[in-house]
Amino acid sequence: MEITVQQVELLSDDDYIYLDVRGEIAYQHGHIPKAYEWAGDFSRIEELPKDKRLIVYCNYGEKSAPIAEQLRQEGYEAFNLSGGYREWLLHVTSQKEQMQDVSKDGRHLFSSTEELTPDEVKRYDRQIILPQVGSDGQKKLKKSKVLIIGAGGLGAPAALYLAGAGVGTIGIVDADDVSVSNLQRQIIHTTKREGTNKAESAKKSMLELNEHIKVNTYPEYLYADNAEELFKEYDFIIDAVDNFETKFLINDTCVLLKKPFCHAGILQFQGQVMTYVPENDQPCYRCIFEEIPESGSVPNCSQAGIIGAVAGIIGCIQALEAIKYLLGIGELLTGKMLVMDGLTMNIRIVKFPSKNKNCRVCGEHADIMSVKENRMEYVGAACAIK
Ligand SMILES: [Zn+2]
Repeated sequence: MEITVQQVELLSDDDYIYLDVRGEIAYQHGHIPKAYEWAGDFSRIEELPKDKRLIVYCNYGEKSAPIAEQLRQEGYEAFNLSGGYREWLLHVTSQKEQMQDVSKDGRHLFSSTEELTPDEVKRYDRQIILPQVGSDGQKKLKKSKVLIIGAGGLGAPAALYLAGAGVGTIGIVDADDVSVSNLQRQIIHTTKREGTNKAESAKKSMLELNEHIKVNTYPEYLYADNAEELFKEYDFIIDAVDNFETKFLINDTCVLLKKPFCHAGILQFQGQVMTYVPENDQPCYRCIFEEIPESGSVPNCSQAGIIGAVAGIIGCIQALEAIKYLLGIGELLTGKMLVMDGLTMNIRIVKFPSKNKNCRVCGEHADIMSVKENRMEYVGAACAIK
């Protein structure tokens, strides 16, 4: 027997309880207030009160229907919630929205509230039903701020997927303009936007994909003098640049500011990714690579080439690392580097279990105390992010 959210609201509070049958992890990441977590385990049926109506729900109301039916056969006054948790979420978010009046001209624009709108519940449905995300996780993403340095081969997929996932505020730093030779891999840009600043071009695509987010553009190079100010505003940084000076600048700034970030590098058919989180006693990028290579000693993509799909895969891994960090789920690539060879599809995880005690920014005798004071080392960082 079915019951709607509106019908439940007409019942007296003492008259019923909600039974959440989606499983413990899903319950932990968002559930109907005061709902009882009971994963359809009939060996625990004694725990259920006989004197109340039981409103049984799952994600969409399909899996819970036979459970409600079985409970009725066991003598309980059980109902299946039509449309499940999703329908309830749409109902309460639309009520809140009417109260907050964030709706303008029928279009739901980005709101500064931490609550989800009904449009957002529909949009993010496929990730809200993931037990590890839930409505609480989606709200966390909405509150989060990620800064992407470079709207190139890595930044393009990272920016699009983070925009799609509903990360509430995304910053993009890039001083360059779109050129036709970028488009083989930088698929956030378009042929028509040749000559447009890359940060602005990226913003256009991101908002076309998802108008519920806010995109801040910084059409400038990253220098020792602007890095700290830019990074301070954000929860997570993505290194999507292709020159070593900027990679070391991003690393040193993040270590000194205690900001988590995800490094990636790509060349020809190969890519590598690692994540740094300051709370853990994990190595930073400088712990592993120590010093900026001599200019010209290591080829870059404009000299040695790159397959666009390799940049796409690695940039997507960076977006995934950011999402996992923001949600506090899964295992990050901290203390280890994922190395992919796209020609053989050989993917290895190389472990770096501890800090390098000689690291100049996080080691025992670190001498880099400020990126501004160390600015000469990053000269050349302003060279184009390809
Ligand atoms: Zn270090």
